[in-house]
Amino acid sequence: MDIHEYQAKELLATQGIRMPRGGLAYSPEQAAYRAAEIGGEAWVVKAQIHSGARGKAGGIILCRSEKEVEEAAEKLLGRKLVTHQTGPSGKLVNRLYIEETVDIEREIYLGFVLDRKFERIMIVASSQGGMEIEEIAEKEPDSLVRCVVDPGVGMLEFQAREIAFGLGLEGKLIGKAVQTILGCYRVFRDYDAGMLEINPLVVARDDIFALDCKMSFDENAIFRRPEISELRDKSQEDPRETFASDRGLSYVGLDGNIGCIINGAGLAMATMDMIKIAGGDPANFLDIGGGASPERVAKSFRAVLQDEKVEVILVNIFAGINRCDWVAEGVVKALQEVGVNVPLVVRLSGTKVEEGKAILAQKAPDVIVADTLKEAAEHAVAEWKKSGKAAA
Ligand code: GDP
Ligand code: MN
Repeated sequence: MDIHEYQAKELLATQGIRMPRGGLAYSPEQAAYRAAEIGGEAWVVKAQIHSGARGKAGGIILCRSEKEVEEAAEKLLGRKLVTHQTGPSGKLVNRLYIEETVDIEREIYLGFVLDRKFERIMIVASSQGGMEIEEIAEKEPDSLVRCVVDPGVGMLEFQAREIAFGLGLEGKLIGKAVQTILGCYRVFRDYDAGMLEINPLVVARDDIFALDCKMSFDENAIFRRPEISELRDKSQEDPRETFASDRGLSYVGLDGNIGCIINGAGLAMATMDMIKIAGGDPANFLDIGGGASPERVAKSFRAVLQDEKVEVILVNIFAGINRCDWVAEGVVKALQEVGVNVPLVVRLSGTKVEEGKAILAQKAPDVIVADTLKEAAEHAVAEWKKSGKAAA
């Protein structure tokens, strides 16, 4: 789960991390008011969306009067901002963060991630801030400083000092960087974050400031962090994925027309490949998991049908822990309750397959039953082509 820059900065502020003064605005009028409240002669108006690279996309505007702040807000609010991270449909700007400007002397990159290989929190820093980390890794790999934290003892001060030295900081700035790095570490650890990135962290006025901050959290731990789940902004998420995740389904939205309901992530990947080979495009990835009840199967149909692009549904179940008869009951339940108005292809295999097929034959005669994955994908693509929209 991602949060906005201003929310991440509020979390950092609780650990004493320094940052420019700022305030939130939902309207141009409020933006101008915030600028007056902050004071000074120049401000940055920053679009709050769940994406980085806003600067290059026109989402960060430098202003030299309250009138300019108001105009910048007018321009950004209600607009969809397309960055190279948002995909072509972009993300809606419905709030702005107004900040005092800072005269930047140096830009630093500071990132914390949960490294899956080490199973530890890893810190990556670079004296070449401002660029994105991928670009730094490509163009200035020697500038990268890394540090892995032992979870038994936590991050130690000497590690933060090593990072500060590695960044080439001197004098008073070393102590300030150490406080910043340790503060970030505490925020990261205490809230079960998966990623925390300050880019840029800047040197200015003999001090260190977080000018930007991106943060995301481990969704498996959100249940125990109500103060974080409260920060969720569903307007920034794919509505199809929100619908599914609210119901405990593992779903990823894609761009095609064939809706997929499958048990197991590996089988889902294989099915998507098979659809591609048959000449079609999957609309989603949906893994119903093991031991799925008829209710869960019916819920999956609801999630898949949230997507208006779906023209065919393909159910592919290889039942080990699952039971084909339960899945078949789920299909019947979905047909009765959800109103499935697109062709439906079902492939069942494994535990209770004969019972499952008998239920479908008896209660859902319109369902196209396939015996193999290949056949199922071919039927699904053929149905999609029949729907006529494939040619368009
Ligand atoms: P991002 O593009 O989404 O990563 O947004 P950032 O908050 O990082 O802003 C983009 C860039 O704008 C930064 O890398 C800075 O170079 C610049 N910027 C942001 N705030 C200020 C500021 O107060 N003063 C100056 N001089 N530049 C700023
Ligand atoms: Mn940035």
